[in-house]
Amino acid sequence: MGNACPVCGQIDQVQKISAIRSSGISTGSFAGPSGGLTYANKQVGSYGGYTRLSGSTATQLAQELALPERPKPIAYVPQISGTAVGVLAILFTFLFLCGAVSSNNPEVNLSMAGLAFVGGLLASTVVEVTNKNKAKIFEKEYRKEIDELEAKVLRGVEIYNRAYYCFRDDQIFDPQTMRRCSPGELNDWLYNQ
Ligand SMILES: [Zn+2]
Repeated sequence: MGNACPVCGQIDQVQKISAIRSSGISTGSFAGPSGGLTYANKQVGSYGGYTRLSGSTATQLAQELALPERPKPIAYVPQISGTAVGVLAILFTFLFLCGAVSSNNPEVNLSMAGLAFVGGLLASTVVEVTNKNKAKIFEKEYRKEIDELEAKVLRGVEIYNRAYYCFRDDQIFDPQTMRRCSPGELNDWLYNQ
């Protein structure tokens, strides 16, 4: 049997996690395989016959079996953005203009405002270009790591899509490799291998 549980060796309590997810979320109930069912650590179902999880139990299990958030991609994070510098420049321009209204020497304030505006825009452009270059250099330097993480995430999602859950043992497993984990370890199991 291709999808027998690696713990109990049976298929009667086994269901694809994507199926458990969708039925548990959309209908709030999960029709378990016939032959009984235990939702091992959380709640015990009955053996023998056709059993169902319903209400919060089904939703809870469905949530536990959700695809964990994917690891964030590796990327260069600039200390300050060109936009932030631009906003600061406009703020100072505005402050100098306000000062000009009440000043005895409005020319000084006006020229300061002009300086803040032009200088700020220039600085903003320089920062933006520098950030882009740094990001490029970063990407070159960490190309391997970035690719590796991307591949890891893709592989994790693939495993997730083909994984099964055994109600008897409260275990998730990959029918291709027979690796397994409990629902709480799903994140590490998918992405850190
Ligand atoms: Zn099992």
